[in-house]
Amino acid sequence: MVSMGSMATDDFERMWADLSPIGRSVSSGGYFRQPFASAERELAAWFVEQCAARGLAVETDQFGNAVGWWRPDGGIVRHEMDGSMGDPRPGGDGLSGRSGVLTGSHLDSVLDGGAYDGPLGVVSGLAAVDELRSRGYVPVRPIGVGVFVEEEGSRFGLACLGSRLATGAVTWESARELTDREGVRLGDVAEGGGPGLLSGVGTFVELHVEQGRDLVDRNAAVGVASGIWPHGRYRFDFAGEANHAGSTRMEDRRDPMLTYAMTALAANKQARLADQRATFGRLEVEPNGTNAVPSRVSAWLDARASSEEALADLVAAVTRQATERAERDGTDLEVTAESVSRAVTFDPGLVGREDWPVIPTAAGHDAGVLAAAGIPTAMLFVRNPTGVSHSPAEHAEIPDCLAGVHALADTLERLAS
Ligand SMILES: [Zn+2]
Repeated sequence: MVSMGSMATDDFERMWADLSPIGRSVSSGGYFRQPFASAERELAAWFVEQCAARGLAVETDQFGNAVGWWRPDGGIVRHEMDGSMGDPRPGGDGLSGRSGVLTGSHLDSVLDGGAYDGPLGVVSGLAAVDELRSRGYVPVRPIGVGVFVEEEGSRFGLACLGSRLATGAVTWESARELTDREGVRLGDVAEGGGPGLLSGVGTFVELHVEQGRDLVDRNAAVGVASGIWPHGRYRFDFAGEANHAGSTRMEDRRDPMLTYAMTALAANKQARLADQRATFGRLEVEPNGTNAVPSRVSAWLDARASSEEALADLVAAVTRQATERAERDGTDLEVTAESVSRAVTFDPGLVGREDWPVIPTAAGHDAGVLAAAGIPTAMLFVRNPTGVSHSPAEHAEIPDCLAGVHALADTLERLAS
């Protein structure tokens, strides 16, 4: 095993320290790095600066997804821009076509999120380039470090939007009409989006902080993902009748909050019984007044399961119980699937390390979108001692982060040789 040069260590810690104040809430310690807003834009500019400092050639698309390429001869390897995202070319060992080895992640966060989800993969990618150079390694294939925009879907509601646009899984024509909570259209903050940026990519490796405690249990700093559970977001609209909280007798009410409340309990029970995941984490109430029976409650179900069939069964069971309760409450229910992601299987063999634990994940990632687009993809996880993610408590120790950089550098070297 090649020992890690001190340059890589210094660079990782310096980069990490540079990023840590950007978008952090003084009161909670959490991060607010919403896409197309100031903190996230500052991080995007930082990424381009870091690429420039390393002599990486940055390519971007209209949506703001970016890749900094380290090309073998320092020159340009032009890729065929056929716009399709099919399988890599047969025996794709040539240095034309899809020969690039891409790593990277995202820089946006959920509201009040942690520091590591996303940025750890981007910073580790840059640090892995530094480490490979300090080893004296010269890649045969281009190595790219990339950033995908709006991975969390925390502003416009559709997770992995940047990678979905870049792989053609979502079209700009449909995406531009998405709106955020303030009613701002995506088309008014982003210029466009579509395939092209990834046309030279033959393999993708995303490093990510673990969102669970499998690596803690296995006493390992780094692990490899086997795949991603199928998952989806479903909007439940409960409609009733607004009325006075004092003068309306209990038996005369059509209260959609009751239907919602029972539905949230039913979803939790259903998921617990089947070892799945169901979460209502977002709610909108009209008129949202303390002294008014609501007229409408909209709630978003995030559901995940180990197979597509199990996911469909879970959502059907929750919908059935909600419908039965709506009849009792005199309310109406409409369920809309806002996004559903199929099961993803990664290629742990790309990493080529049988001594690292292989673990599944119930969280979605850009890596899942690229894998679904036919790009051979692997994921590395770095141990998270709290197991908590999407929260200020998300954490990884520096030695584990450096082990992740080292593992990523090894993987990139393997794939780019
Ligand atoms: Zn992430």
